[in-house]
Amino acid sequence: MNNPYYHHQQLKFSDFNFNPQLAEGIDSLGFEIPTPIQEQGIPIIMEGKDLIGSAQTGTGKTAAFLLPITDRILKENTSPGIKALVVVPTRELAVQIDQHMEGLSYFTSVSSLAIYGGTDGATFTREKDALTSGVNVVVCTPGRMIAHLNMGYVDFSTIKFLILDEADRMLDMGFYDDIMKIISHVPKKRQTLLFSATIPTDILNLAKKVLHDPAEVNIALSKPAEKILQLAYSVYDTQKLPLVKYLLGTSKGRTILIFCSTKSSTKLLSRELKRAGLEVQEIHSDLDQKERERVMNSFRAKEIQVLVATDVVSRGIDVENIDLVLNYDVPNDAEDYIHRIGRTARAEASGVAITFINPDGQWKFAEIEKLLGKKVYKGVVPKQLGEAPEYNPKKPRGFSRRR
Ligand code: AMP
Repeated sequence: MNNPYYHHQQLKFSDFNFNPQLAEGIDSLGFEIPTPIQEQGIPIIMEGKDLIGSAQTGTGKTAAFLLPITDRILKENTSPGIKALVVVPTRELAVQIDQHMEGLSYFTSVSSLAIYGGTDGATFTREKDALTSGVNVVVCTPGRMIAHLNMGYVDFSTIKFLILDEADRMLDMGFYDDIMKIISHVPKKRQTLLFSATIPTDILNLAKKVLHDPAEVNIALSKPAEKILQLAYSVYDTQKLPLVKYLLGTSKGRTILIFCSTKSSTKLLSRELKRAGLEVQEIHSDLDQKERERVMNSFRAKEIQVLVATDVVSRGIDVENIDLVLNYDVPNDAEDYIHRIGRTARAEASGVAITFINPDGQWKFAEIEKLLGKKVYKGVVPKQLGEAPEYNPKKPRGFSRRR
């Protein structure tokens, strides 16, 4: 009975008393129930406290910070000027967050802008114009923001909120100095929020430097290794490939191991990811021992970013410090599951394990959760990938313990 979810009274978005125009935006996106990171994070942010949130894409973390900061901007001061700065590792993420912001703030007067590198001079000029005309929420990648700051026309003195998103990736990508430089331009009196899939020591050190007495919210940290962030998505088979591409779209520079249940899906997935521009190799029973070793060596040496493997070889893979293990299909038994996710998060590092559950795999996954003694948090499939199946595992017909 000490299950925290047992007596839990479901919170609704209306309980937050957001500005009515903002509430209209939430409605228009079809959000009804806050996700755990929203439920726990939004009240803390609304109180004005600094926050460290450990949450991965799919947990609703973006709205968890966009909603309360937009609400505060609306309630306090909608005059022109940069009120919130969101710093992120990649262009893809900057664009995603900006689009999310546009959706949520559609009926409000709060404006936003994404600023990221690799675009032409005309775009740079447009960014400059928006920055100097007082856009309210700026979502940026570090390098590009510094380029603007160096030109001397950016005024950060009106900033009230600083958000560092996917902080672990930013540090992996070598953005520490850039982040500190940007922060040196932001007023000290501000509210700072840091989100990161994992919280290794270097993130804690960063947090000590830039946050003030932060509250912490952790989503889905659970056994077997406390430092592994486990997440699962209930999906139809047809949604798996688009969801992989979506999740890996912002994963530059990370080591990723994907397990498939069949040789054919291994090959197909590897081909599609190559097409999407990732450094991918595959490993399955068509390869002889020598070829397998060659692939494993280059994966170990981080020459390739993504390795797609069939179940068959899963036990033989001895690579440590993988950032993300993705089960493209639910593993056949819980031990395999634990064994696989243990590939992430060695020693000081911590990692992420994601599992795709198709309707047929739900029962199998429920059995895994039973063994873990804990429910794995279910991520929200992005709307543009279509309606996803509800996770509601039922014993399949004809199932018996003996099987
Ligand atoms: P994120 O983890 O922020 O990348 O969000 C993942 C997906 O979940 C996005 O497509 C969001 O639009 C969606 N989402 C976020 N919060 C909610 C919610 N409370 N209800 C339904 N969908 C949500």
